[in-house]
Amino acid sequence: MSRTEWILLNPGPANTSPAVKQALVTPDLCHREPEFFQVMRRCRERLVRLACGGGDWSAVLFTGSGTASVEAAVCSAVPPGRSLLVVDNGVYGDRMVRIARAHGIPAEVLSYDIWTPAAPADVARVLRAHPEVSHVAVVHHETTTGLLNPVAEIARVAEREGRRVFVDAMSSLFGEPLDVTAGSMDFVTASANKCMQGIPGISFVLARRGALEALKGQAPRSVYLDLYTHHAAQEKDSTPFTPAVQVLCAMEQALAELETEGVGRRIERYAENARVLRAGMGRLGFEILVPEGARSNILTTFRLLPGLGYDPLHDAMKRRGYIIYAGQGDIRTYAFRVSNMGTLTPTDMGRVVEAFAASLEELGCRAA
Ligand SMILES: *Cc1c(COP(=O)(O)O)cnc(C)c1O
Repeated sequence: MSRTEWILLNPGPANTSPAVKQALVTPDLCHREPEFFQVMRRCRERLVRLACGGGDWSAVLFTGSGTASVEAAVCSAVPPGRSLLVVDNGVYGDRMVRIARAHGIPAEVLSYDIWTPAAPADVARVLRAHPEVSHVAVVHHETTTGLLNPVAEIARVAEREGRRVFVDAMSSLFGEPLDVTAGSMDFVTASANKCMQGIPGISFVLARRGALEALKGQAPRSVYLDLYTHHAAQEKDSTPFTPAVQVLCAMEQALAELETEGVGRRIERYAENARVLRAGMGRLGFEILVPEGARSNILTTFRLLPGLGYDPLHDAMKRRGYIIYAGQGDIRTYAFRVSNMGTLTPTDMGRVVEAFAASLEELGCRAA
């Protein structure tokens, strides 16, 4: 096992504090004892408080990667006989379409290319044409490219059309401003290991209590990922299956650290990280592919320089302790991604730029 302390520039799992890692080492604990339920309850309450949901919101925890909570929301929210409208401008929008289809839920797809944010007016138009659609599903931050979708505006448009909204905010919750109460937003999903700076293994659905209660009695499409089953159990300080006990202990520590830093200050730190990274990479000749105005402050997709392949660049950066991230699909042939979430600071991002400069030097690559 490598003992190198990598600097993770992939969009989660992100670098965590020493205290978060240490929180994994706890006395063995039974998940049906009050000591565990107290951890679960504190995490759920803190999540709602930090996301500014207010009293009529709740958090439902799932053991699994982020996709577990997305699948739980998609397969639980849409009532029988209704359908889902998915906004798709990247891998994660596309994943929601595949989840809907796997569960036999009819899905309308509003597609854009991966560099174009969704337009709320398009959502309104599709909703008017498709009265059978009960919910709109949209990704807040498309981690495919670093593109932000205007989810609050989409939720307001959907509310005017009498439909409810589900937002995948996996790589943006606590890293970008997000009003989870905007419009008809009912469900928002994220995981422990991205902007929360916890350990992978737990994801969650933030939800309006009314929307959760409305699922009661609806026939489940999944045994393991039914949202109401988990909600009802967790409300009674119980859990239907064995949760990732230690990961939740680490998540409690990560939430405490988030509370200390403050969500607003974390968002500002990430934004400063992105500014330092983008200014430095610009000096090295790297072009940002997402248009200005649609860029998140969490992840940047840079075009590879002429004659520079992804793999040599990845390996040169890795020799310096930095893990960059390939593009998904054919993007990897012309671009790569750098995330600035996790415990990274603007000073760290300055060092990242220096490592890129040294890597280019080593590879004999000069900016055009
Ligand atoms: C990371 C991520 C997910 C979940 O991915 P997992 O590998 O299942 O954790 C879902 N949506 C978005 C936008 C993401 O960035």
